[in-house]
Amino acid sequence: MGFISRDKATSLRPPYAFTGNPPRFRKYSRYISCLLFVLIALSIAVYFFPGHLLPRSLPSGHTAQGQDLRADDPVCPQADALVPGVNHDLWLTLGDALSTPLFQARAVRLVSGAVQIKGESFIDMGPVGNDSRWEVHAAMHTYLTRAFPLINKFLTREVVNTYGLLYTWNGSDPSLKPLLMLAHIDTVPVDDSTLGAWTHPPWSGAFDGTYIWGRGSADDKSGTIGTMLAIEMLLERRFFPTRTIVLAFGFDEEIGGAQGAGHISPVLQQRYGPNSFAAILDEGGSFGEEYGSIFASPGVAEKGSMNVRMEITGAGGHSSVPPAHISIGKLAAAIVKLEDNPFEAHLLRESVIYRRLLCLAKYGADMDPMLRQNIKDSMTSDQSLLELERILFNAAPIVKTLVSTTQSVNVIQGGFAPNALPEQVFAIVNHRIDSLSSSAAVKARDTSILEEVARRFNLNYNPFGIANYHSAAFTGNFSLVATTLLEPSPISPTEGVGAGAYHVLSGSIIAAYNTYNWTNSGRSKKDNTIFVTPALPSGNTDTRFYWNLSSNIFRYNHDNFGSPEHPLGGGVHSVNERLHVRVFLEMVRFYFTYILNMQECREA
Ligand SMILES: [Zn+2]
Repeated sequence: MGFISRDKATSLRPPYAFTGNPPRFRKYSRYISCLLFVLIALSIAVYFFPGHLLPRSLPSGHTAQGQDLRADDPVCPQADALVPGVNHDLWLTLGDALSTPLFQARAVRLVSGAVQIKGESFIDMGPVGNDSRWEVHAAMHTYLTRAFPLINKFLTREVVNTYGLLYTWNGSDPSLKPLLMLAHIDTVPVDDSTLGAWTHPPWSGAFDGTYIWGRGSADDKSGTIGTMLAIEMLLERRFFPTRTIVLAFGFDEEIGGAQGAGHISPVLQQRYGPNSFAAILDEGGSFGEEYGSIFASPGVAEKGSMNVRMEITGAGGHSSVPPAHISIGKLAAAIVKLEDNPFEAHLLRESVIYRRLLCLAKYGADMDPMLRQNIKDSMTSDQSLLELERILFNAAPIVKTLVSTTQSVNVIQGGFAPNALPEQVFAIVNHRIDSLSSSAAVKARDTSILEEVARRFNLNYNPFGIANYHSAAFTGNFSLVATTLLEPSPISPTEGVGAGAYHVLSGSIIAAYNTYNWTNSGRSKKDNTIFVTPALPSGNTDTRFYWNLSSNIFRYNHDNFGSPEHPLGGGVHSVNERLHVRVFLEMVRFYFTYILNMQECREA
């Protein structure tokens, strides 16, 4: 489906719209700015269109500097708030419901009940059918069926690989590409040794008047229940879609998703074909205060990953007559070689991280003027770009990891007896592949870096199945094998032609945010405007199985993280995971706003 964008600009070149004081070189303030950037980079880690856009738009917001926001602004274009038009009254009614005590109690009850179902995913789980630990998800199926009777009545429900859930809400207009909404019903495990550190037991779903406590309350029972609650609310008001909506809930996202999304994806591929969905929405980015302004950060890409098994084999024998170098020493030399040669890291203008920097610099009210100016200059000056890179990398090594391929040797094994030469040793290198790179580039680089080790120790070298070096004085074999491989994801368009889907997402975020007055939430905020910036999550979600179904894949659930000083939640994948009830209610608002906006968009 060809979305028509309201964003006509694709260039990041001037005229830019930064303001701020002229630069003054103050190392200290730079340092503070960079530290703040670290916080932002860390927050990244946590996780659309219209031919005729029927929805009405609210008046444009304003930047922290008081400039008009327009989608055709060349730097970090912002969509207008997007409020459903045809379904405007319905949207208002749904919003009213969110503020009633009765509804809030229902929302709490629904999330709490889901948290109490202990759906942990363990890394060593066998296939469904061979491992009884999966069976807990049957209870979740029963729970969801009872909790959402209208979904059960009006949507087609299928189970895939026993515990994967696929709901189809057929739209009346088959010419419209469907919308795919993802979530997962499993959680990471609770470490029993941490039980004493939980304020409320992790499977209690306790509600203290503000937070719903427990494992999965945020990740991702809030996504599963939030999406279903939004749809149940629509059904209760007799809304039926024109555009088909498909819900796909995996049950092993936390351990890679192969059993859940890995089985659901082929069903969708076969049923709908490639590039058949208007957009895909999954868990991921959130919104909150950064540099004194509110930013929403939908993930628009993911890094790739690859595990490389480095194996050295050689003759065994008695350790009383060892050669100068044994296999363990050779493997150690290979690891040292890798660590002495980290991947080159560069801040590239086409990277998601750089585009995010531009947004932060343009709209972040409290950004140090020096850093803001440096970012602005980097748009046109390569020297300034290098300077910016140097400052960021020095102050915050994590930024370096986000914009480059990384390597980390996490497993090593070899040797079996103190008096015997090991015949086989191996180590596993985990690579996270830069969003702008590829597995082929990583393999080529590993191959060339490690060849010197093979030559030094007279090893036959077999990198990635290509025997490219044979030693005349053969002492053993050195092989590299990619044991797991995930390419970097495609990058969803956020500017220019093709970014229509992103603008509907952005407009929905802004509309949902504007409707609730967060200044009453007890958190200080200097400005009542939210800005949307593309982001790069550090991990992968179930979307990895759905790349070819849509070019518009967004990882975002409207979770409000508050600010680094005053977080509104916490404990994801750790102790004291909890969900602020107002944060959850606003997630539901975002879901029904987005669903309705998607309904009202048409192809040209
Ligand atoms: Zn999750």
